Amino acid sequence: YDFASGRVTPTIYERTTAAALRHEALNLGQGFTDHEGPQWMLETAAAAITDPQQGPGNQYPPGPGLPALREAIAADQQRRWGIELDPTSEVLVTTGATEAITASILAFAAPGTQVLTFEPHYDSYGAVTAIAGAELVGVPLRGPDFRPDIDALEAAITERTSLILLNTPHNPTGTVFSTEELRRIVELARRHDVKIMCDGVYEQLVFDDAAEPHRPILTIPGADEVAVAIGSAGKSFSLTGWKVGWVTGRAELVNQVLGIKQFLSFCSGPAYQWAVATGLADDRGFYAENVAGLQAGRDLLYAGLEAAGLRPNHAEAGYFIVADIRGLTDIGDVEFCRMLVEEVGVAAIPVSSLTVQHRANPQDELQNLVRFAFCKRHETIEAAMDRLAQRL
Ligand code: PMP
Ligand code: GLN
Repeated sequence: YDFASGRVTPTIYERTTAAALRHEALNLGQGFTDHEGPQWMLETAAAAITDPQQGPGNQYPPGPGLPALREAIAADQQRRWGIELDPTSEVLVTTGATEAITASILAFAAPGTQVLTFEPHYDSYGAVTAIAGAELVGVPLRGPDFRPDIDALEAAITERTSLILLNTPHNPTGTVFSTEELRRIVELARRHDVKIMCDGVYEQLVFDDAAEPHRPILTIPGADEVAVAIGSAGKSFSLTGWKVGWVTGRAELVNQVLGIKQFLSFCSGPAYQWAVATGLADDRGFYAENVAGLQAGRDLLYAGLEAAGLRPNHAEAGYFIVADIRGLTDIGDVEFCRMLVEEVGVAAIPVSSLTVQHRANPQDELQNLVRFAFCKRHETIEAAMDRLAQRL
């Protein structure tokens, strides 16, 4: 969005999906699954809509979320991570993680302040920071491991810094931040009096060969004084269109986020919230099955990209691999993705569009990475890799 002209450019994800449809390309661009979430959750939502006796009905639910869902989120966090949350004051339901991110940035980043994040980063971090009147500063994650450089993060802090945006497990690199990395970030945030928003939408999608298990920010001692955590049922249950997310943390921080959220959407659909509450209470084996399928998809994609002469990274979690294209071409990621969708018939995302600014040096790694999604049916991935093998 260009504030000066008022012109809206669709997001890179939407543009990529539109290009995939236009060129009949296989869509490894936008991160949504091409299969449905658990059937019983679909049935629970459908029954809640058509039979109001069975669920919360179809009128406005409470703005901060259905009590049943807030309780289910608190119970789930307690059971899995030992995080104690009061569902009435420390859990806020949002319209997807997207709204949770927007409300958190607007709550904690005052106009004129500076917001830090590791880049590449999720696209809305930059747009919403601009809407808040603040400035996003990116600290690069570098290949081949894409580990966060905590010294570089600290060096980027100034007296104007209000907020650090973390994302672990990370989109697009799949990096799972280690306990020690998170501990150091929390320590420096406390020392510099900076808040943390930690986006954990991929927390249920960590592979068994990750260097360390995922660690939610609120399990780090002292984090609760500065941090809010974000989750998304869309990712946990392969139901990205349902847009049910949440914010958790200490009551005074969550309350600040609620103050903004109540004027963004006020509330979101009760039937979806109801069905997500049942899924969180008992996933009926879905998480394990889903993560195994994703990991197998990752391996298929990795092998195909490597065979095509790209240098894929080892994703520890999530939906995506990033591949360095410099071994194959020097045309840059944007041009490569254009060629890929038009001539090869595969859609992917140029990673430079997920950075704070296009860097001057065309050889910079962040201008030569391409993101491929593996949250697709294995046949889709195999067909896409066949096209790369034949046409690249
Ligand atoms: N954060 C990250 C890192 C994401 O990748 C996404 C979506 N892919 C979101 C937030 C948005 O989540 P939701 O669809 O629940 O709004
Ligand atoms: N989160 C998805 C991705 O990273 C896209 C969501 C969207 O299109 N806003 O691909």
